[in-house]
This record gives sequence, structure tokens and C-alpha cells, in this order.
Amino acid sequence: MGEMAPDEFVIHNGRLIDPSAGVDRVGWLAVRGGRIAAVGWDDSPPKSPRAIDAMGLIVAPGLIDIHVHLREPGQTHKEDIASGSRAAAAGGFTAVCCMPNTAPALDTPEVVQHVIRRAAEVGLCRVHPVAAATAGRAGRKPVDFAALKSAGAVAFSDDGDGIEDDAVCREVMLGIRAAGSVLFPHCEFKALSRRGHVHLGPVSERLGVVGYDPRGEEAMIERDVQLVAETGARYHVAHISTARGINLVAEAKRRGLPVTTEVCPHHLLLCDADVLRAGDVPDPNCKMSPPLRSPEDRDACRAAVRAGTIDCVVTDHAPHTAEEKNAGFIRAPMGIIGLETSLACAVRALLDPPRFDWPDLIERMSTAPARVLGLPGGALRCGADADIVLIDPHQEWVIQPELFLSRARNTPFGGWRVRGRAVGTLLGGRWTHQDECLRGRQPAR
Ligand SMILES: [Zn+2]
Repeated sequence: MGEMAPDEFVIHNGRLIDPSAGVDRVGWLAVRGGRIAAVGWDDSPPKSPRAIDAMGLIVAPGLIDIHVHLREPGQTHKEDIASGSRAAAAGGFTAVCCMPNTAPALDTPEVVQHVIRRAAEVGLCRVHPVAAATAGRAGRKPVDFAALKSAGAVAFSDDGDGIEDDAVCREVMLGIRAAGSVLFPHCEFKALSRRGHVHLGPVSERLGVVGYDPRGEEAMIERDVQLVAETGARYHVAHISTARGINLVAEAKRRGLPVTTEVCPHHLLLCDADVLRAGDVPDPNCKMSPPLRSPEDRDACRAAVRAGTIDCVVTDHAPHTAEEKNAGFIRAPMGIIGLETSLACAVRALLDPPRFDWPDLIERMSTAPARVLGLPGGALRCGADADIVLIDPHQEWVIQPELFLSRARNTPFGGWRVRGRAVGTLLGGRWTHQDECLRGRQPAR
């Protein structure tokens, strides 16, 4: 190839993985004008004074997390679009979907557009808003789906709460079907789940606290699958957590219904017993909704990701302040963060080559999330935006919450020794994250 434009650079010697094209081989990739200009396998990549030697690194489409809470507007003491975007870039993410349980909720075109504008100003990560499915997420009056979709909403969810009323949920599905969008529900009947503090079982009994009953989640998935069969709406179950729920999704898929789902790393790595791992004092950083379930549920989640019944791995990144989380286990709010630990946790939970290798992991964390919500990205395609992650699959590191770029520290994984890390993130050809080891691989400028 010939001369390079000034804004062009090459990443060479990397293990290029593009699950959308079945690619997994060593090669080079040229970036020009913020886009992927060329990909090649020969040993003569374009000469570039700004070449990056990616020997030993994975070069993959930027990770996409379709379930995060950025807390803006309204709760920016926990996180905001800037701090959340920094955390996302550090975790290898080039796009996230933010959930609508903000204050106000993302239920009008104005608020949705505000989030999109603010994320563009920050410029560290693409942010696709998920709008509320009902006004104020109150579960009564469906929103204006077409107007919110035009404003940029990529899906609809009352995340944090289920849409309990059957008639309202049917109306929501019909509206979403008409708008050509996706329902992305938090599945929970509260009268059944009792919204306990710990999964219903030996640990809730030992602590003498209300048990979080899995039937609340499973019953709503069951009802919704019926409504999907009636309405034909695209349907993506948020943060699935139980073996029975997974079976319901598997059965819906067998029937050919437009149903997909996702799971969080904590539901792959932890179970209810971990709430008490520090002794008899329950850990508020093991408190979330849905809760850490039984060991059997955890194992079923892992198996279902590997089998493809669970389509995506997402964080449900839910920042809270230390004061909020330290208010005592019962009073502590639900949720943990995950953007800066998701990749390494997924590696630990899932990677099992050759049965489940890096291309499978990238599929669940980039290609499938893009496909499920119809987002750009998830591929290394010539002409597409150069949204790329460079991963060191061997780097061992210790999770140190005090070093997080997120404003929050509420993780159960502090102190864990893990393997695999995003060492560089490119957004539209611009570095949004580079760690020390990557700087050493480029000529000084
Ligand atoms: Zn959530």
C-alpha cells in the first residue's frame, strides 16, 4: 500500500477478532479519518510513522454495554455522564445504553435529547438512551414511543420496576411494535418477589431478613412471553438471574418468538452465600436487584451464556455513594458498579478455550449487544467508525476500587486478582483510554 494521510495510523501484529465476520487471526488494521480504512493479513501493512505494535494483544470491536445507570439527570452525586463515560472507556467500552430511572425519568424527548447532547460534549463513549416505557416509570400510562424513538431512544424500559398491569404491558408492547423498537423490561411482580434483601433461601433465613423470591421474576417473564406471542413485540429481558427464567427464554426462542436476554458478571461469579463471605455481617456490595441467587442459578447463568441462550453480558452498572451503601445492609440501596471490572469478570466466569474462547466472549460483549438493540458497532468493518478495543488477554491485575474512574466504589470485586484487561480504547479513531503498556508500544510523538 502507498502513502498514508496525516490522520492515518496502523495497528499491526494484533489478533484481530470480529465475531460478526467469523474472523480470528493475526493481521493489521488501518484507521483513517476516524474510520476503519483497511484490514489485512499480509506482512506488509501500510508504512506508518504512527504504527502501534499490538503483538500479543487482541484487537476487537469496542465493547458495548447495553445496561448501565449514569444517574444524570438528577443523581449526579452518584455518577454523571462524564464520570460514567470515563469509566466505560477504561473498561474497553465504546458504547453504553443508559437506563431511564433518573430524576426526572427519561420519558420525554427533551430529557432524552439532553442526555445525548451531554454525552456528545463529553465525547468519551457513545451513549444510547433507553427511555421509560410508561410515564414517570409508574407503570400506568404508556409513553409516546414514536416521539421518543425519533429523539434517539433505542429501547424502552421501566428498569427498577416491572410493568405489573397486564393491560398496560400489552398496550406498551403494541406501541413498541408499531414504533419498531424493543421492550427491555425489568421483570418483577413485587407481591411475589417481596423485594427482599437477600435471595430467598438458607442465607435469608440465617439472617432473618425478607427473602427475595425468584418467582416474582419468573412469573413476569412467563406472562410477558405470552404477550410477545400475542403482540409480536421485540422483547429483551433485563438482567436474568434464575435457571427457571432462562428455561422460559429458551422455550420462547424455540417457538421462534423475538425474545433475547442478558446477564451480569456478578450473577455469573457470585451466589447468595457470598453475601456472608466476610462472616455474619452481610456485605452491602452484594446487594442488588435481582439479588445474588442460588449456586444452581449461578451455574445455569454461566451455562446459558456459553450455550447462547443468554445473548449478552451487561453490567447493570449502578453507582451509589459510600455513605448510601454504608447505611447498614437493610437500608443500603440495591446495585453495584461494573464498567471497569466487567471484562475481567467475564473472562473469569466464562473463558474456557477452546469451547468458549475470546471470539465468543467478544460476541457476547459487543456483537450481540449491537445486534439485539440494532446499534452501530460490534464489528471491524471497513468504512465503519473506528470503535475498537485493544485487550491484553494475559495481563494480571488486582481490582482496586480506589483507582476507578467512576465516581462510585460499590463493587464486591475489590481485591480480586483477575486476568485480561482493556489496554486501549479507540472511539471514532480517537484514544479514549490508553494504559502504560500501550503507550510503550508507540513511537514517541
Ligand atoms: Zn438496571
